[in-house]
Amino acid sequence: MVKKLEGKVAVVTGASKGIGAAIAQHLAAEGAQVVVNYASSQEGADKTVAAIIAKGGQAIAVKGDVAKAADVAHLFAETRKAYGKLDILVNNAGIYQFSSLEDVTEELFHKQFNTNVLGLLLVTREAVKLFGDQGGSIINISSAVTTLMLPNTVVYTATKGAVDVITGVLAKELGPRKIRVNAINPGMIETEGAQAMGVTSAESDMRKWVENAAPLGRIGQVDDIAPTAVYLASDDSKYMTGETLAISGGMR
Ligand code: NAP
Repeated sequence: MVKKLEGKVAVVTGASKGIGAAIAQHLAAEGAQVVVNYASSQEGADKTVAAIIAKGGQAIAVKGDVAKAADVAHLFAETRKAYGKLDILVNNAGIYQFSSLEDVTEELFHKQFNTNVLGLLLVTREAVKLFGDQGGSIINISSAVTTLMLPNTVVYTATKGAVDVITGVLAKELGPRKIRVNAINPGMIETEGAQAMGVTSAESDMRKWVENAAPLGRIGQVDDIAPTAVYLASDDSKYMTGETLAISGGMR
């Protein structure tokens, strides 16, 4: 069977764990050569690469903080060196730290905006230089919080609101270059990051709330998200750009 992404090169930011690791593996399983970016967890990135290679795929790990322009330049220099071009970018690296309005600090604001918004822009700016005449696909990992408007998440939700509108603006700006830009907006997904925050544990009030409020009655897993990234990366979605797709068990 012909693989959907044969001959394509993908960069996935924040692919040492969680949603990014699953997306990297699904893209590779469809034939893409994948650059697995990470910030600090080399062990996690090596595990993602090893899982891809074990299934006959191709991948390399490249360290780099998306919020630092020099690191981002290095990420794409390594991509060029290894694979010579780029067709797919998944802007997944992100952090979430929920807080009430009264607990908002400059540090909390800048940390989340630097990674989730500035980082996404720096990465995208460099990535488009490597896209060829045939264009490509950019997939931004936003969040269902942008329609749920949950209390006590104001800074994080603001970063993802920015990601939604960046998706729309860049879809128009990059459309003439045949670069499509879409977003995936996941609901609560069980990942290392969500586990560390305590929100996915069986006793968590937030998990119980999702299980009650989501029409599908459960929280999500990384393999609920990754196939949609493959769809958005492939020609199956070739006439689609500027969309935000909620994958949240029906919560909106
Ligand atoms: P996670 O398990 O915490 O993993 C985060 C990944 O991002 C790791 O690979 C981490 O690298 C990387 N990362 C963090 N800061 C970075 C930086 N400055 N530069 C490069 N990489 C960086 O997170 P997740 O739950 O999979 O979330 C992934 C994305 O989905 C985020 O954008 C998040 O906002 C979004 N999302 C998650 C959920 C959810 O419920 N889990 C729901 C909606 C949206 P290291 O391991 O090296 O630090």
